[in-house]
Amino acid sequence: MTWDWRRVPEDAAELAEQNDLINIGSLASLSQFGETWSWVPDPKGNFSVKSVKNLLHRSSPPIGECCFSWNNWVPRKVNIFGWRMALDRLPTRVALAHCNISMSSICCPFCCDKDESAYHLFAECAVSFIVWQMVSSWINIPPIYAFTIEDLLRVHEHIAGSVIVKKLIQAIVLISCWSLWKSRNDLIFSGTRVDISRLLAEIKSTSFLWVKHRAKMNLLDWADWCSFNIL
Ligand SMILES: [Zn+2]
Repeated sequence: MTWDWRRVPEDAAELAEQNDLINIGSLASLSQFGETWSWVPDPKGNFSVKSVKNLLHRSSPPIGECCFSWNNWVPRKVNIFGWRMALDRLPTRVALAHCNISMSSICCPFCCDKDESAYHLFAECAVSFIVWQMVSSWINIPPIYAFTIEDLLRVHEHIAGSVIVKKLIQAIVLISCWSLWKSRNDLIFSGTRVDISRLLAEIKSTSFLWVKHRAKMNLLDWADWCSFNIL
């Protein structure tokens, strides 16, 4: 049997997977009769959209268990972004590599110290670490340390305060993640180096505009927002 790969394995893990695949393939005996496709999840081997839905339902966490909750003080695109974060469905370099998309590097574009997973980008990277320190200092909450994406998306749940305070902090965390992702894209696609002070200024101004109008806080003042003297 001759293999025809689209690209060669790029690390030890991929090489091991390739060897496993070749071993599995070597065990298969091909018949001289015509082959047919069979959809394994269906007992009769028939493909249907319903069986795909059932498969996804069984393999995904129930919506109630997802660590993301919708926040209508930020736009829909930011909510969808947060939801994709929670499900680890953002197209980071590590995620793209898992989809067999070939890249010259999968390292983090900010620091190049580690591979760019969502966890690294938003929680572990030196850039996001500084951003979280600056954000927590701005909104007067204990320093944000996240060991998982879920930790980030649940920061607001552990802050003492009213429902409004928690919702406000959740909105700011989501906007911060959104802004980090935009900076990451600007760096990759336009070569624009990240400026953390400017990034924080963008987080403050964007969150001010969105929260003021979406939460109908018409009396919200920019100076008070910058000092987070609002409640
Ligand atoms: Zn990094």
